[in-house]
Amino acid sequence: MNMGPGPGRGPGGPNDLYEKMKPPKPKHLREVPTYLRTVVGGVFSRLLYIFRLVWEARPALLFVMSFMALFNGFMPVAGTFISAHLLGRIVERLNDPTVDLWVPLLLQFGYTFLYFLVNDVYKVVMNISGELVTNHVRVKIMEKAKEVDLASFDQPEFYERLENASREAGTRPVTIVNSTFGMVSQLITMISYLVVLGGLIFRLAWYASVFALLFILLSVATALVGFYFRRQKFLYVRRKSKDRRQMNYYSDLMVNKDLVKELRLFDLSDLFIGRYKGVFARYFKGLKRLVYKETAWNLSLGFLTVVVNCVLFFIIASNIGQIEGYTIYTGALNAVSTAVTTVLTTIGSIYEGTLFIDNMILFMREKKTIRSTLPEGAVPERRKGHRIELRNVSFSYPGSDRMVLKHIDLTLEPGDTAVLVGLNGAGKTTLIKLLTRLYDPTEGTVLLDGRDIREYEPEALYRLYGIIFQDFGKYAEPVRDNIYFGQADAEPTDEALENAAREASADEFIRRLPRGYDTPLMRYFEPDGVELSIGQWQKLSVARAFYADSDILILDEPTASLDPMAEQELFRQFDRLRKGKTTVFVSHRLSSAVTADKIILLKDGEIAETGTHAELMAKKGEYYTLFTTQAKRYLSPDDTA
Ligand code: ADP
Repeated sequence: MNMGPGPGRGPGGPNDLYEKMKPPKPKHLREVPTYLRTVVGGVFSRLLYIFRLVWEARPALLFVMSFMALFNGFMPVAGTFISAHLLGRIVERLNDPTVDLWVPLLLQFGYTFLYFLVNDVYKVVMNISGELVTNHVRVKIMEKAKEVDLASFDQPEFYERLENASREAGTRPVTIVNSTFGMVSQLITMISYLVVLGGLIFRLAWYASVFALLFILLSVATALVGFYFRRQKFLYVRRKSKDRRQMNYYSDLMVNKDLVKELRLFDLSDLFIGRYKGVFARYFKGLKRLVYKETAWNLSLGFLTVVVNCVLFFIIASNIGQIEGYTIYTGALNAVSTAVTTVLTTIGSIYEGTLFIDNMILFMREKKTIRSTLPEGAVPERRKGHRIELRNVSFSYPGSDRMVLKHIDLTLEPGDTAVLVGLNGAGKTTLIKLLTRLYDPTEGTVLLDGRDIREYEPEALYRLYGIIFQDFGKYAEPVRDNIYFGQADAEPTDEALENAAREASADEFIRRLPRGYDTPLMRYFEPDGVELSIGQWQKLSVARAFYADSDILILDEPTASLDPMAEQELFRQFDRLRKGKTTVFVSHRLSSAVTADKIILLKDGEIAETGTHAELMAKKGEYYTLFTTQAKRYLSPDDTA
């Protein structure tokens, strides 16, 4: 479950992306041009990025959109002239019945038809393009996520970026490109009408131009008010990101499949719903205030606009004798004022929209460091039994100074079985992540067959390992696939899959499932999906490791969810499986350590003891204490007496 971001991620905090991307505010008047250039440059480069995304998805989309921008730009002007022409003819016909109305009527009809036809087709195109671009961006994000270092995922900042990118970057590009083209249309309309209006100024009394100017200024003011309040809402929502995360957290809790049992039995549902409502009320209060304020402004401006409008139209009406001229000029005025508002509003929304794409841009720029240090990555030889060596390895997780592993020196000879033991948090899993080069050590080197593992091609290196993590994958796919994923680069055969399942003691329960190996797992997609017990899942994960034809076997608590009988059986099978392979086990159950070639006891990130079971027992140190404590739990007081 997504538990929400950690502390210190509030807006304005060190990780606030928008604050970081913003150019510094100018302190002097002379810095203003530079500041504006940076802002405009930023918007342009983001716009370019967005256009490129649409272009990559389907180049034709951009052509269709450009055509629509021109079409929608000129059509209103043409429409005004056609309507005015028709009206003029109708008035003429009142005095002279011989005036023919056919041509203007046909023109009007043709115009309306063309306008609706093109726009309807365009709507369909836009719907489809929305899907196409969203899909393109999703795939792009998935492709990138595939290669990003695991270490990046540990950083909350990166993770938030990834989440935001996948949430927004899909739908926004089309909207933004569309708005940009819409703005171009409006500009074309506006300029054409301004040319028409230009003629008017010379024909009317001087105060007409004052009112015309006032009319246009009012539309600028309307747009600015809209822009201001949008920004206020944007800032408000950002400031309240903790509230929003909390609301998401509570609503996620309520639909979380793993928690539903506990919520019911502890009767927590109403409590969490109540908390959700509480946070929402707090969040909504501020938002409501902003909406009221905006409405008050809009109503006042709207009222003023209507008054100015009335006066202006009255002036035009009393100055222009012809109905045709009246229609054209009032139409032009209305259109210019709408265009001014729309253009300004669109600029605002494009600016805001482009900010969101920063998540995606930064995510796509994430550097990959897990790659071969050689120009041509080395490919490790495939054979059972590799020599693994750690030399003075220390490690701290990215974004943290705490050394989780300190000065580890360790050698595993080919075919060795090593067991890592130690308390929770001692660093066992971390050591495995370094062995397999999921992470690079902060200090020191890991060698495979005498060579720094950083020199190998990571993909080729990963192929050597058959691995079961503590939090192994449970895939909502058929049983067969859950095993086959162990080595997905080769076509699976039923025989190999069943062998692996048999070796993992999974075959028996799989055969009892309704559709055997083809049974879909989990109920995400399939109504007949089967929910396995955690022990059964674990057996499947072991089968997956058996199926992977690996050289090195790594098992992190592979028996944690198994009952003692199954555990014993599995250990016997591991014995067979690991023949000749270098094997690393992490286990809490020290019984598994008894036969190991090497036991490595980690304590607070350091190797406290190493040796065989017999050696360590004789030493009567940490291992001895751990082992005897655990053994006592399995024996009755009589046995220990
Ligand atoms: P073990 O496997 O021995 O229980 P781990 O290797 O999982 O221990 O963890 C060692 C230490 O590293 C713990 O203190 C844990 O909190 C920390 N740790 C583990 N994973 C991460 C991570 N992704 N980011 C930061 N710290 C981590």
